Amino acid sequence: MAKTKLSYKLTKKARVEAIKNLTTTLVTLEKRYPDAHCELDHNSPFQLLIATILSAQCTDKRVNTVTPALFAKYPTASKLAKAPLTQLESLVKSTGFYKNKAKNIKGAAQKIVTEFKGKVPDKMASLLLLPGVARKTANVTLWNSFGKNEGVVVDTHVGRISMRLGWTTENNPAKIEKDLMNIVPRDRWGHLSHLLIFLGRDVCKAPKPICGRCSLIKTCSWYKEVVSKEAPSGAKAPKTHSLT
Ligand code: SF4
Repeated sequence: MAKTKLSYKLTKKARVEAIKNLTTTLVTLEKRYPDAHCELDHNSPFQLLIATILSAQCTDKRVNTVTPALFAKYPTASKLAKAPLTQLESLVKSTGFYKNKAKNIKGAAQKIVTEFKGKVPDKMASLLLLPGVARKTANVTLWNSFGKNEGVVVDTHVGRISMRLGWTTENNPAKIEKDLMNIVPRDRWGHLSHLLIFLGRDVCKAPKPICGRCSLIKTCSWYKEVVSKEAPSGAKAPKTHSLT
């Protein structure tokens, strides 16, 4: 994730207020997006892990167009570990950075076979040993495949919206994750990213949020500190984060 610039200063008072309102914000999001879920198509922990590696710098929709052919040919770690690299490159090409991604998914499959008896490990430390896997991918896998809350998935939506809501002033994913883990109850870590990603795709878009259509205007710092002061209609935000 590239540098994110906050175009307003989150005061201590506003941050305290945002954290005080956190439960209300979460409940509102849960009501608005009752079906929030992981949108990467998969049929096993292994397939989810591979799809998540492929989703770096790419949309879930695009990944879902390449994984059916990939998983039809190589559905398991043992099969994918033996796949010719050039064939993998051609199968994942449209997701971008395909040479690295092909190398990583093959490397991850090989390691799963040689070190984890062909099964995706369900521990953070073990997942982080796999090529192409950092905390984001490990968190996606742990929650969606094993129901484990070990951390919070921080992608561009989660980072951007956490800042707008007043939950963090950081622009580094690891620091944002730490802030979120400090203020959000652990049993909500896994689902949190689904809620924020659904919100981000729906209204809290980069670069311009559509606050007039959002259910969070009563608890959102960005709305209170920026939009309501400069555009009372709530339809337009002045300046936005640059987050890639
Ligand atoms: S009120 Fe606006 S900035 Fe705040 S979460 Fe909603 S869309 Fe995003």
